[in-house]
Amino acid sequence: MPHGQHVHGMLPGGLRIIEGLLPGFTAQVTSAGGLTGDILADVRWYLNGLPLRRTATGLTALSASRPLLEGTIRERVRALPNVKILDGYDVTGLCASDDRDRITGATVADRDGGGSRVVPADLVVDVTGRGSRTPRWLAELGYDAPPADRVAIDLAYTSCLLTTPDELFGDDLIVVSPRFPGQLRSSVMQRLEGGRVLITLAGVQGERPPVTHDELPAYAQTLATPDTYDVLRAAKPLGEPMTFRFPAYVRYRYDHLRRFPAGLLVAGDATCGFNPVYGQGMSVAAMNAAALGDELSHGGEPDPYRYFGAVAQSLEAPWRMAVGADLALPGVTGPALTASPLTPDYLRRLQLAGTEDADLAAALLRVTGLVDPPQTLLRPEIVERVDRAASAVISG
Ligand SMILES: Cc1cc2nc3c(=O)[nH]c(=O)nc-3n(C[C@H](O)[C@H](O)[C@H](O)COP(=O)(O)OP(=O)(O)OC[C@H]3O[C@@H](n4cnc5c(N)ncnc54)[C@H](O)[C@@H]3O)c2cc1C
Repeated sequence: MPHGQHVHGMLPGGLRIIEGLLPGFTAQVTSAGGLTGDILADVRWYLNGLPLRRTATGLTALSASRPLLEGTIRERVRALPNVKILDGYDVTGLCASDDRDRITGATVADRDGGGSRVVPADLVVDVTGRGSRTPRWLAELGYDAPPADRVAIDLAYTSCLLTTPDELFGDDLIVVSPRFPGQLRSSVMQRLEGGRVLITLAGVQGERPPVTHDELPAYAQTLATPDTYDVLRAAKPLGEPMTFRFPAYVRYRYDHLRRFPAGLLVAGDATCGFNPVYGQGMSVAAMNAAALGDELSHGGEPDPYRYFGAVAQSLEAPWRMAVGADLALPGVTGPALTASPLTPDYLRRLQLAGTEDADLAAALLRVTGLVDPPQTLLRPEIVERVDRAASAVISG
């Protein structure tokens, strides 16, 4: 994966689904060197530049490189007796029945020049990620392409692998320093297998983190908290920094289409990409996998309208959280969101309150971790505690 060398946080909601689909997944990753802990007790969260109050939530944080996560899933899938993986082929198009009402397979091309062939299929699921060509292929078959909601965030990542003195991390697995009002910069540091540390520095809206080791500490020094700077200053680099540019993320509204061929579904980033700084993409892909499993469990012909409806419903919370936070930045363009009682002001007060009240910090992470629905943050007892604790932080 071109983005495999950057920090990949696994949200507890996504991990639960993957663990349900592939029991023993977490243990397998940790036996290969991945690390686990509690998402609040063992992760340093700096929101608005202030540390969230720590407590055990019972929710697992899994810290491992993207290649280890992806390789473990691939190994498990490959071991299924009814799965065959065609390595070294590109999917180049869809095959349809003469009346074009049904997708009957896909054409694949050998990457080593061995020619093309057709793989017949009862069901084709497009999981080709952000570069999915299904919108174009649908239009070529005479269907409407799905409307696209695009959020132009203009994000840039620089990541580096390091070894670092243990005392800088203490017992923590991950250190998260998100951007806060007025800042366009953020960082995440995570311990990885093999005793390594991966740091990703991010900038949005044209803000570009530097690309050489020499320049990184000065950039990190401008973050709200000194942790990233301290680690970068004391660390030994393992190889050169890696960069990634991400102009926009796109949600294809397949759920809005009135006409769709049988025998085709779309999942993962191919249907909805996310701003990677919120760490939602792999978890949402897992949610899509669960929706696909539900659809197939009905038996008979998969119903694309029911499937895309279920996907849309599961996307509602993560999409709203990501887009709501990004649209709050001046100049970011994207689809308007319907009004919600979870206003940016309330969320900010909740974040501040979480620096005083560990239960509120846990409630917040249960929602951003895609375990609890956002409405839980509006329970009267939570609202009351937010008012109390946030006022104490603001006046203190
Ligand atoms: C820089 C960056 C950082 C990220 N950080 C996080 C994070 O912290 N947490 C998180 O949860 N998510 C993160 N994400 C998002 C996450 O990587 C994706 O959401 C997730 O990988 C989506 O899975 P997917 O299977 O849909 O697509 P992908 O993982 O993109 O996989 C698509 C696969 O399809 C293959 N493919 C594409 N076209 C074809 C073709 N024509 N024929 C055959 N094969 C094809 C590709 O080679 C690839 O293997 C990040 C993304 C980026 C870019």
